[in-house]
Amino acid sequence: MAPRPEPVMPSEILPQRVDVVVVGGGIIGTSTALFLAEKGVSVALCEKGHIAGEQSSRNWGWCRKMGRDPAEIPLAIESLRLWEGMNARTGGETGFRKAGIIYLCENQSEIDKYEEWLEHARVFQLDSRLIGPDEIDRLLPGSSRRWPGALFTASDGRAEPQKAAPAIANAAAAKGAFILTQCAVRGVETAAGRVSGVVTEKGPIACEAVVLAGGAWSRLFCGSMGINLPQLKILGSVMRTAPLAGLPEYAVGAADFAFRKRLDGGYTIAQRNANVAPIVPDSFRLFFDFMPSLRTSWRELRLRVGKRFVEEWRIPRRWSLDSPSPFEAVRTLDPEPSESILDQGRANLVRNFPAFADMQIVERWAGLIDVTPDAVPVISPVEDLPGFFLASGFSGHGFGIGPGAGRLTADLVTGDTPIVDPTPYRLERFTNKRSRSAA
Ligand SMILES: Cc1cc2nc3c(=O)[nH]c(=O)nc-3n(C[C@H](O)[C@H](O)[C@H](O)COP(=O)(O)OP(=O)(O)OC[C@H]3O[C@@H](n4cnc5c(N)ncnc54)[C@H](O)[C@@H]3O)c2cc1C
Repeated sequence: MAPRPEPVMPSEILPQRVDVVVVGGGIIGTSTALFLAEKGVSVALCEKGHIAGEQSSRNWGWCRKMGRDPAEIPLAIESLRLWEGMNARTGGETGFRKAGIIYLCENQSEIDKYEEWLEHARVFQLDSRLIGPDEIDRLLPGSSRRWPGALFTASDGRAEPQKAAPAIANAAAAKGAFILTQCAVRGVETAAGRVSGVVTEKGPIACEAVVLAGGAWSRLFCGSMGINLPQLKILGSVMRTAPLAGLPEYAVGAADFAFRKRLDGGYTIAQRNANVAPIVPDSFRLFFDFMPSLRTSWRELRLRVGKRFVEEWRIPRRWSLDSPSPFEAVRTLDPEPSESILDQGRANLVRNFPAFADMQIVERWAGLIDVTPDAVPVISPVEDLPGFFLASGFSGHGFGIGPGAGRLTADLVTGDTPIVDPTPYRLERFTNKRSRSAA
């Protein structure tokens, strides 16, 4: 069963012209649309399915600074600041609570790993710190074992994936943005070497700039324009429980399980560090780009050849803008979860926190995560095509930095002083940098 995000009332009219079209109605696209609308820019957000139908409603809901690549920390700091004010800003409920996050360590080598991360993060003066067994027992009573250490950040938190992007979309609409659902963008039109509009399944929209926030679809979209965005997909499986009383408020991750409390009183649970990497034609095309990251993360990945290979093989890579595109064929990516990974995750959790033994699992689902070779997103203009911007490749941790990423994208589009230095997120950092073909 797929999670059901809060419904958003779409706009009834397709505008003929706006300043900016945002492609994709996940946390990134909706946040971008909100910040653009707040700047007084006219914006249309086009979503092929419904708002937050894909990754943005299927994730764990963790909003964290800790454990991030140092390149992402400034954006994470700004995002946590924005999350704190997001209910007031949107007049809605995003579910954000600054409830703290704890990463439990199994052994000294995990403690050393977080010690090293703290060293890299010191310059940002976060409140993240290593804690010992006594403090862990105090913060997380009821574990069946004594943990040697943990990384703890009291100022990190959680939000509700099924509520946040819809609340942000509604706020963007209230500020004048057109929110168009069931409205796939087939491609971008250009004039005099720059963006001049998009063609949607409902008709064209003229615009000065396009932001592609298409999640797992962004590589296909870019490829159809001759732009190489290195991006693969990984399957994450998740489950949630009915309400449970007396269990931790903190979001907790250990080597082989993770849980966080939900606003409805239940818990979102998963097996941590256990994802399936479907082998698809792009796995071969991008083999050398992803080789270095595969070397370090292969233990967490279960490579699988399955029906996705054939499904992706059949997807056309180019199409004409006056006939249906692959985006209209799949309104919402809704893959099957891995039952064995979830069963194992549940067993791991109960073994370590026996109070979860009686939990009632009410829903299981999966999401396809879009990853880049360095697991850092691309938030960037595309130099070869003025007016075209990317905000994609959030590599399994884009929900927490969604608000900051949306703000940064809006700044890049309008040319305002960016909220953080955008250099680490540029598309050009990848090899085959600007491989936009002459076509
Ligand atoms: C199981 C799982 C757990 C995760 N846990 C966390 C977590 O705890 N914390 C965290 O920070 N992150 C987490 N993530 C990652 C996070 O969910 C994503 O990084 C984030 O949601 C990405 O948002 P997005 O807007 O880029 O993509 P999406 O939410 O996938 O949205 C992209 C949208 O674009 C639309 N689209 C694509 N192409 C077109 C087109 N041509 N026309 C119109 N619409 C189009 C799609 O339909 C889709 O709705 C997790 C992800 C998963 C799957």
